[in-house]
Amino acid sequence: MKVIIAGAGIGGLVAAMCLKRAGFDVTVFDAVSELRPLGVGINIQAGAVRILSGLGLEPALAATGIETRELRYANKHGQTIWADPRGRHAGLPWPQFSIHRGELQMILFNAARDLLGAECIRFGRRIAGFEQNGSKVTARFVDRDGKPVQSVEADLLIGADGIHSAVRAQFYPHEGPPKWQGILMWRGVTVGKPFLGGATMVQAGHHTQKFVCYPISKAHAERGKALINWICDLYMGEGASPPREDWNKPGKLTDFLPRYRDWKFGWLDVPGVIAAAHTILEFPMVDRDPLPRWSHGRVTLLGDAAHPMYPIGSNGASQAIIDGEAITQELSVGDDPEKALERYEERRLPPMARIVESNRRKGIDVMLDIVEERAPQGFRNLDDVLPPAELDRIVADYKKLVAQDRETLLKLAGHH
Ligand SMILES: Cc1cc2nc3c(=O)[nH]c(=O)nc-3n(C[C@H](O)[C@H](O)[C@H](O)COP(=O)(O)OP(=O)(O)OC[C@H]3O[C@@H](n4cnc5c(N)ncnc54)[C@H](O)[C@@H]3O)c2cc1C
Repeated sequence: MKVIIAGAGIGGLVAAMCLKRAGFDVTVFDAVSELRPLGVGINIQAGAVRILSGLGLEPALAATGIETRELRYANKHGQTIWADPRGRHAGLPWPQFSIHRGELQMILFNAARDLLGAECIRFGRRIAGFEQNGSKVTARFVDRDGKPVQSVEADLLIGADGIHSAVRAQFYPHEGPPKWQGILMWRGVTVGKPFLGGATMVQAGHHTQKFVCYPISKAHAERGKALINWICDLYMGEGASPPREDWNKPGKLTDFLPRYRDWKFGWLDVPGVIAAAHTILEFPMVDRDPLPRWSHGRVTLLGDAAHPMYPIGSNGASQAIIDGEAITQELSVGDDPEKALERYEERRLPPMARIVESNRRKGIDVMLDIVEERAPQGFRNLDDVLPPAELDRIVADYKKLVAQDRETLLKLAGHH
């Protein structure tokens, strides 16, 4: 069976490898003329590392990124609210990795090229539209100037073309731009000193002003340094209008650094880290409403094209990876491919819609707001501010929702 994937991002490349390994004939098309290691840091949860390990990629990830030991939530004074071991440190059979998105994409690209053959990953081909007739689908590709370059016929088309998906737009032409609720994000990378043991992901502050940071480079760690990926989230107020969602748009320090001037934790000088950045990018925190359907006949959606979500709880890349495995498993049943795409949607759409909606309600970050609201000046004893039972409930509910609880993860992997 011949499968076309539009988009050689994280989701598209993983889906291509899973499908190829299962015996499908796969070709990937991406709009860019060449892949460059773009972006800043990203996290891959243990449940998604399981799939990458199955593709033989764990050694490359371990050699490049940081095996995340702990996720720590803190208030804006740097006081710890909750700390949770991650991956193997939580007793799971797989690690969690914090890694540079561009480096992850290059690891995936090199592996996919080896597996599929270079001729099966085509660049400079932006999908412009498609037609299907019940037994075949024909995808039309254009170059960067919009000039038609190729039409390709296949049994199936997967739209893995990201937040501005053209495949999605053909099904939902009136959807409009992504949705914004007023939060702008500045993302940066800074070479600095290791903090909290060198493998901790920190989420500090509260909904309207947050600072997230984690180290992402093994090479830096080996030199006694940390390549710190950080994100500043700031609420811009009602009525602010969002900038265009461009992953490569540079950001300006003066737009946000002053707001973090006093964020000097004993263990991390936040303004110092921000000011020393060598890359700063600006991006609005956007998502889209969950769709009623992803699969229409022989065409479906995957990753951000299907379920763009706020980057809360490190789900974007991880869930895109899990989609690739799910679609492969359903197609491998070997019955009518349209039915397989429907089953893929039944399996993946409802849980992804729940994450999108939960992230709009702040997801697991709700603990930060509770502490900010009840103890804006900081606390002496956390239990007086956020009783353990309340905290446990927030955490357990979210882990269940995103299928990160131990039981679900082990079930997914066939462990008992
Ligand atoms: C350049 C870039 C930088 C990013 N940086 C970060 C980051 O720093 N941190 C973070 O958390 N997330 C980042 N993301 C988003 C993150 O990769 C995704 O949220 C997540 O990994 C889900 O992956 P995906 O494969 O669904 O989408 P993406 O990783 O966004 O991949 C989509 C792919 O489709 C291609 N494409 C787009 N339109 C078309 C078209 N019409 N035809 C063919 N191909 C098309 C794009 O070139 C891209 O390669 C970035 C995405 C991109 C594209």
